[in-house]
Amino acid sequence: MFGLMYLTYHCPNCDSLNQSPELSEAATLECGHCDWVRKVPVSVPQNNSPPDQCLRCGNEDLWRQKNFSQALGLGFVALAAVISSIAWMYYRPILAISILMAFAVLDMILYVVMPDVLVCYRCQTKHHGIDVSGHKTFDHELAEKYRQEEIRLKASQ
Ligand SMILES: [Zn+2]
Ligand SMILES: [Zn+2]
Repeated sequence: MFGLMYLTYHCPNCDSLNQSPELSEAATLECGHCDWVRKVPVSVPQNNSPPDQCLRCGNEDLWRQKNFSQALGLGFVALAAVISSIAWMYYRPILAISILMAFAVLDMILYVVMPDVLVCYRCQTKHHGIDVSGHKTFDHELAEKYRQEEIRLKASQ
């Protein structure tokens, strides 16, 4: 019921966004935009069970996130506003309000049916097609720790 397991990640070399092939078949990650190649550092979990570590960088802290992009949500709101203002223009206020409400409900349904992904605090890699029930959600303190770490790392280079 969870579908294919794959990653979406930013290449550490050229920063392009990549999508990995199905993980149980491919144990190597390859950037499609440069020659960066890396073996998956930990063993790939079976039957869609969640990994203990990030499959891109091996980091142990992962959080669970709705795979629902903010941009998509905002696009929805904008579209609803446009259509409903057309209804207002034609003096159809009830229709206008209904349109707004219909979009709000659709937005909510989309949010609920969108599967969760596991995201790595260190490299932001998203793990798709994984049963994340029971996994922790976003922790600001932990995220801050990783943000500081990245700043220190950049400064030391
Ligand atoms: Zn690359
Ligand atoms: Zn990672």
